[in-house]
Amino acid sequence: MGLVVQKFGGTSVGSIERIKNVANRVIDTVQNGDKVVVVVSAMGKSTDQLVSMASGITKKPSNREMDMLLSTGEQVTISLLAMALQEQGYEAVSLTGWQAGIYTEACHSNARISNFQEKKISKHLAEGKIAIVAGFQGVTNDNEITTLGRGGSDTTAVALAAGLNADRCDIFTDVTGVFTTDPRVVKEARKLNSISYDEMLELANLGAGVLHPRAVEFAKNYQVKLTVRSSMVEEEGTMIEEEVSVEENLVVRGLAFESNVTKISVCNMPNNLSGLSNLFTTLAANNINVDIIIQNVSDSENTNISFSIHSEKLAETLDVLEENKSELQFEEIRYETGLSKVSIVGSGMISNPGVAGQMFKVLSDQGIFIKMVSTSEIKVSTVLDQSDMVKAVEVLHEAFDLSNIKTPQVNA
Ligand code: ASP
Ligand code: MG
Repeated sequence: MGLVVQKFGGTSVGSIERIKNVANRVIDTVQNGDKVVVVVSAMGKSTDQLVSMASGITKKPSNREMDMLLSTGEQVTISLLAMALQEQGYEAVSLTGWQAGIYTEACHSNARISNFQEKKISKHLAEGKIAIVAGFQGVTNDNEITTLGRGGSDTTAVALAAGLNADRCDIFTDVTGVFTTDPRVVKEARKLNSISYDEMLELANLGAGVLHPRAVEFAKNYQVKLTVRSSMVEEEGTMIEEEVSVEENLVVRGLAFESNVTKISVCNMPNNLSGLSNLFTTLAANNINVDIIIQNVSDSENTNISFSIHSEKLAETLDVLEENKSELQFEEIRYETGLSKVSIVGSGMISNPGVAGQMFKVLSDQGIFIKMVSTSEIKVSTVLDQSDMVKAVEVLHEAFDLSNIKTPQVNA
């Protein structure tokens, strides 16, 4: 008898009918002889609705009260699912984050799980019950309710799988797996049979919404066998694992893209020892998240520094820079909005030189101008005009052979 953690996302539990459907999937697994821990999200868009209710009252709700509010969404689902299972004659118990022993650091709205006391769930499992746990929430040592950041139910599921030493963790969602890129934008996008933890982590951090980045981090650290699959269609999903089998060794395995990027250039700053650190600690102290950074030393005296931010932060960033102009000693600020970021990800880059060069050539052949670049061992990101984004993704998808992956496809 094995132990399986199954997570169902918001769409999969979006109506009473769907909750009954989830109950049936859980029962199939139980009938296979496995013990099951189920983690669920709030129904449909209910977390968004809770957020919008709060914004009808205040522009700046306290993080504590937001956590109190948002954690209710998952509580609705766990109880309804427990009822659906009980109705079919199965013993099931719903558990909130604290009842399940999920402890987090003392930080509201984006807490990390710090400790999981698995005995609370194991006890129910030993009694033959199906445990149904509210995703996305935990409790601090001071009994404050916290949430794990939007999309955080994935992280709950993987953390439980790690702590309970489960045989596997299945993330059931509204897509059939992890795709080479967003199939809503590129019709040729293909489902991957497998992808490595590191590749998935890059894609998740680059905004591929299919998995919460911290869930992938957890899975990697604890070597959790993780799959992403559809809750509606009976179809093999995508395995996320340490190493991906040789026959699928594509150099590039995925493409991510995002819009609303702004490039800011701080011009003619003195080229001294502490210039860079002053600039970026000032931005960080004002909660401005910087992505790509490029430094150009123009002569021995002066330097130009460019960085990218989310466009939403433009006005705030300009204010912070202006306020600190005399201390930072730059001459002028230039900026460019209406940009996007397009990235290619693949572990194969480590051993194949020339991938970045190939990417730049594909783009330049299309007359697409690259404004910024950043790389990691397994990723190349480029900043381009927003109007070039979709074209760039399409041509790169084709050029790196991602349209030709042979996996059994079901047209959704
Ligand atoms: N319900 C939360 C959200 O919508 C958490 C989750 O679904 O993973 O972000
Ligand atoms: Mg999600």
